Amino acid sequence: MNNIVFATKNRHKISEIQSILGERYTIVCPEQLGFDGEIPEDEPTLEGNALQKARFIHKMFNLPCFADDTGLEVKALNGAPGVYSARYAGEGKKSEDNIVKLLNELSDKDNRDARFRCVIAYIDHSGTEHLFEGIVNGTILFEKQGDEGFGYDPVFSPEGFLVSFAQMSQVEKNLISHRGKAVSKFVEYVGI
Ligand code: IMP
Repeated sequence: MNNIVFATKNRHKISEIQSILGERYTIVCPEQLGFDGEIPEDEPTLEGNALQKARFIHKMFNLPCFADDTGLEVKALNGAPGVYSARYAGEGKKSEDNIVKLLNELSDKDNRDARFRCVIAYIDHSGTEHLFEGIVNGTILFEKQGDEGFGYDPVFSPEGFLVSFAQMSQVEKNLISHRGKAVSKFVEYVGI
């Protein structure tokens, strides 16, 4: 069995990516290695944050490690919330608060185009760093739909679908999602 360290505390992300990796690799999270603290992510870009998280955990355990950082980029808001997606409504606020703020900001806008962009940073055995990007285009709905997924999923409808990410199963979402695409590139690179 091959193990790979994922520098995150987000159980939804672990579950999503583990389901893509299947039985070929088992994700190990920092908590299982004895680290339960916060992983820093205070860079101004998704690439910077993904690298910062991967470097932090790689330095701690000296094991190959990957991290992801995702942002929701809304056209009418000039790419916001972007790298600030997690704390759009303020530090310590919940996804629900972020969604309320997003819908308010868009209430007087005609264009509801948006995309999720995910960047995966991977640090291999030799310490070399690699970046992989995945994007899914879509629109922001007028109200929440569905209970699956997490974050902004209930208000994001991917292009070509009449439902939100929160109305899709994890398998369906992974096939078209930003994270699914970035992970596929990562998996192809490492030859899993
Ligand atoms: P981060 O990658 O953990 O920094 O995520 C930033 C923000 O985007 C968080 O608020 C997440 O809830 C949200 N987010 C990340 N990935 C997804 C997704 O797949 N669906 C919906 N929201 C997401």
